[in-house]
Amino acid sequence: MAWDFETDPEFQEQLDWMDEFVTNEVQPLDLVLDDPYDKSDSAGLALITPLQDQVRERGLWACHLGPELGGPGYGQVKLALMNQILGRSRFAPTVFGCQAPDSGNAEILAHYGSDAQKERYLQPLLDGKISSCYSMTEPQGGADPTMFTTSAVKDGDEWVINGEKWFSSNAKFASFFIVMVVTNPDVSAYEGMSMFIVPAETPGVNIIRNTGIGNETEAEGSHAYMHYDNVRVSNDHLLGEPGSAFAIAQTRLGGGRIHHAMRTIAQVEAAFAMMCERALSRETRNGPLASLGVVQEQIADTWIEIEQFKLLVLRTAWRIDKYNDYRKVRKDISAVKVAMPKVYHDVALRAMHLHGALGVSNEMPFTGMLIASEVMALADGPTEVHKTTVARQVLREHKPVDGLWPSAHIPARKAAARAKYAAHFEREAADH
Ligand SMILES: Cc1cc2nc3c(=O)[nH]c(=O)nc-3n(C[C@H](O)[C@H](O)[C@H](O)COP(=O)(O)OP(=O)(O)OC[C@H]3O[C@@H](n4cnc5c(N)ncnc54)[C@H](O)[C@@H]3O)c2cc1C
Repeated sequence: MAWDFETDPEFQEQLDWMDEFVTNEVQPLDLVLDDPYDKSDSAGLALITPLQDQVRERGLWACHLGPELGGPGYGQVKLALMNQILGRSRFAPTVFGCQAPDSGNAEILAHYGSDAQKERYLQPLLDGKISSCYSMTEPQGGADPTMFTTSAVKDGDEWVINGEKWFSSNAKFASFFIVMVVTNPDVSAYEGMSMFIVPAETPGVNIIRNTGIGNETEAEGSHAYMHYDNVRVSNDHLLGEPGSAFAIAQTRLGGGRIHHAMRTIAQVEAAFAMMCERALSRETRNGPLASLGVVQEQIADTWIEIEQFKLLVLRTAWRIDKYNDYRKVRKDISAVKVAMPKVYHDVALRAMHLHGALGVSNEMPFTGMLIASEVMALADGPTEVHKTTVARQVLREHKPVDGLWPSAHIPARKAAARAKYAAHFEREAADH
């Protein structure tokens, strides 16, 4: 019977080290450096690299990967416990070598890449030397990839890519792009799309503009509107088989979604800690906010919601480890994806409100958290689409009733129960 909520002491020691290290050495970087993906920021790298070395020495580098790829292969449960710490800081995933979207890109390169592709793109990515971009969404279609029109047409030994992509995160820092394109318009999108690796310096790879989130300026924005204009790549830039883009995307997005959720736990716990601190610190004429029944109710509701979410994330992580096949945990991952923005939004909003004017100001992190919660509701697919997935998968576990009445209809069940015990009651009646 393996059903356990305890962390083994050896790994707990690692978590304790991480907790202190992230608080003291990594979180301060969030306040002085610009972008964790910018590998040209030599002043930033001078601070980050020694920290990455310490992480490697502790055996905690690239923990999303198995040993064959230079990670310890801890599995998703341990990764969840780690990400609950790393998610507190913008720079922590980079310091620990598991930052999205590079982590997901590394995963698909490892799964589907040729030896030459792995050597050229995967190794430097794993070493933290370069950044990468996943370029799938298009301006006219995001949630529904069957609307994509960016295409690659074969020309001798080369493919020529044309089209536009939207919200290609970190394009401005990327050394290469993984681009999802139509290669065969005559079959369904599920069989007619392919993935290409496109080096950033290839002629025709153009950033139209860098869109920002919330009030970020264009200079701060890092989600590129891309134009692939007659981009030529040789045949060996195809990732996996032609027509396999959907399968590749699923490999990537399954992991990406649960990892976002693990890091979101850190954010909601941080917001909750701020909320509790405020409740205990802010005085009214009748005592601290924490002494008010309405505030206590908010604290209790929030704690319960966070614990429910954590358990769902951890159980999903455990199921990923158990089955080692994302297709078998689609329902769980989609459920986590749906729960994540809601809990994040609700906790951030309550924490913000309890801080009064300070809460909505630019001197506290809550407005950023609210936008981030909405990002979690969109990136890797909107909430509605994931609810549909959950519902479809759940309904597969049920079947329609034969006949007019529900199977729980009491008259029919009573009649069946009477028939089952008819002999017994007849004997009882005869004996008395
Ligand atoms: C911060 C951020 C980073 C991102 N990074 C990347 C990246 O690196 N690479 C990349 O390729 N993409 C990226 N994306 C894009 C992301 O994957 C898309 O935003 C997402 O798939 C939704 O597509 P869309 O924005 O076009 O919304 P749409 O497809 O236009 O959907 C808009 C809304 O319509 C409704 N809707 C749509 N479809 C359905 C449906 N089937 N059922 C019910 N309601 C529906 C939902 O309310 C949905 O929110 C990023 C997005 C964000 C916000």
